[in-house]
Order: sequence, then structure tokens, then C-alpha cells
Amino acid sequence: MIKEYYQPLKLAEALTFLSVFPGPVHILAGGTDLLVNMRKGQIKPEGIVDLSKIEELKTISQEGDNLSIGALVTFSELAAHPLVQELISVLACGAKAVGSPQIRNRGTVGGNIANASPAADLVPVLVALDGVAVIAKQNGLRKVPVAELIVGPYKTSLEPGEIIIRIEVNVPPKGTGMAYKKVGRRNALAISRLNGVCLLKLEDEIIKDVSLIIGSATPTPHRFTDVEEYLVGKNISQELLEEAGVMAREHVLAVTGKRPSSNYKLPVVERLTVRLLQVAWKGDKAYA
Ligand SMILES: Cc1cc2nc3c(=O)[nH]c(=O)nc-3n(C[C@H](O)[C@H](O)[C@H](O)COP(=O)(O)OP(=O)(O)OC[C@H]3O[C@@H](n4cnc5c(N)ncnc54)[C@H](O)[C@@H]3O)c2cc1C
Repeated sequence: MIKEYYQPLKLAEALTFLSVFPGPVHILAGGTDLLVNMRKGQIKPEGIVDLSKIEELKTISQEGDNLSIGALVTFSELAAHPLVQELISVLACGAKAVGSPQIRNRGTVGGNIANASPAADLVPVLVALDGVAVIAKQNGLRKVPVAELIVGPYKTSLEPGEIIIRIEVNVPPKGTGMAYKKVGRRNALAISRLNGVCLLKLEDEIIKDVSLIIGSATPTPHRFTDVEEYLVGKNISQELLEEAGVMAREHVLAVTGKRPSSNYKLPVVERLTVRLLQVAWKGDKAYA
């Protein structure tokens, strides 16, 4: 039973509440995961700290080569923000792929990370951008790459009393090709069967840098560094992309082993990888 619901206006107040509340306490952001889990009886908090009125957690700003995204920024706000559209359009694509307008208007960037679903739509984009979560506790801050913060399906290394306050991502160099694609059972309100992100930097058709993730295919989202390393330094061609597709498929098989879904997923991983690389190479927009 909930004994105390607290809606602070300042981050410091939220951190103090978390540090002194005697029973199980949960953070509420948009509530699109938390309230569902409470209704199912999967979690039974005695205290709730609702971050939704803390304005300092809702800003998006550019700091040098970094874009800083407040943890309370909603998917709709992220997708519509001019800095995001101008500098990292693939973030807007990931945000637009989430749920429905209602979910995008409530659900937050920090909640997507903290929930740590293997099928999350925005997390793979943040990982592809080497995003770093800035985490506050009453006695200080720590920074952890998003890829390391998520340690398993629905598991993070967040400690009691900690709040993700913002995510810092690198702004890719000008001319970086970007692609995002979600594969679901239907167009709206679908949980990803698979999703994928690719960032590709070419110089005279030589691959200088690439970041590739196929999400919802492995327990935790991570860059496919074996495929990336194979591609870097090579002349881009359709044949090379086909080889990358096969490698990505083998990567997933090596991580997960053969599963009931493998007959469907593995061929799609292969074609999705090829498609993402093609769009990042030749597409005029980030959505594959
Ligand atoms: C109908 C429906 C459709 C959905 N579709 C999609 C989809 O297509 N793609 C997708 O990726 N997700 C989807 N989701 C899941 C959900 O909307 C997202 O995971 C969303 O990002 C959660 O954010 P939130 O702000 O609502 O989090 P909340 O529900 O408020 O919190 C989720 C968890 O994170 C913790 N938390 C929240 N913020 C912080 C913080 N700043 N620091 C530390 N811990 C925090 C909470 O304590 C809780 O444990 C869907 C959910 C529903 C109900």
C-alpha cells in the first residue's frame, strides 16, 4: 500500500526523500511502465517520488560536441526538438517509433533506460551514440555509459536513492549517415520484434567509422563491434553490406544461441543490417 506520494519541484528534494524514506520507494516519471507494473502487482512501493514537476530535468542543450538530454524529456519533446532534428535526426526516429501519441507524450528518456526492456526503442539509439547517463545521489554524481548501466533484461546497475538526471550523447560529425528501423507486428502500438540503428561515416567511399546495433535481438543492447571492426577501412559496396548482414546474424546467434524465435529473427537480423547500412550510406533521411 502506498503510504506517501511526493511530488517535489527540485531534484535536491527528490534525492533527500529517496535517502530518508524508510520503506520500498519507487521513482515515477511518465508512469507508462511503473503504473502498469504496479497494477499487475509486480511491484508494491510504499513511497512514490514523482519527478514530473522537476523542470531542471526537462531540458535539451548542446554543450560543445555533446547533446545533453534531460531524463524527464518525453519522446514527443525529443522528436520535435530543433537541436535533435538538426544534429542527430536518428534520435527523433527512435523516439517516434515508440508506442502511440499518448505513450510518447508521457514516456520519458530516463524511464526507457531505467526500465531496461530488451525491446526498448530509444535505448539502442543512445547506445549507438555512446550515450552516457548522468546519475545523481544525495552525496554526488556518477556517469555511466548507457550500455553498461543496463546489465540484463529489466535490470540496471542503478542503486537505491539514485536518479538518472540526464543523458549525454556525442553529436556525430557532419556528413554522418544515419538509419533507424523498427520491426513490429503492426504499425502502431507494437513492441519491437527487432529494431536497429546505424551511423556511418565515409570518406571517398572508404568506411571511416560505423556504429551498428540490432536491438531486441540480444538480452542487452550493445554495439556489434565485430561487424563494425570488419567494415572500418573497407571500400563500401553492396557486397560488403551483404557480408555485414551475415556477420550480424552470426553475432546474434553467438550471443543468444538457437531459440524458438531464431527461424524468424535471424534472417530478419541479416536483412535489417543490410537495409540500415544502405540507408545510412545512400538515404536522404534517417528512417529506413
Ligand atoms: C501501451 C504501451 C506501449 C509502449 N510502447 C513502447 C514502445 O513502442 N517502445 C518502447 O521503447 N517502450 C514502450 N513502452 C514502454 C514505456 O512507455 C517506455 O519504457 C517509457 O520510456 C517509460 O518511461 P516512463 O517515463 O513512463 O517511466 P516510468 O513508468 O515512470 O518508470 C519506469 C521505471 O524507470 C524508473 N525511472 C523512471 N525515470 C527514472 C529516472 N530518471 N531515474 C531512475 N529511475 C527512473 C521507475 O522507477 C520505473 O522503475 C510502452 C508502454 C505502454 C504502456
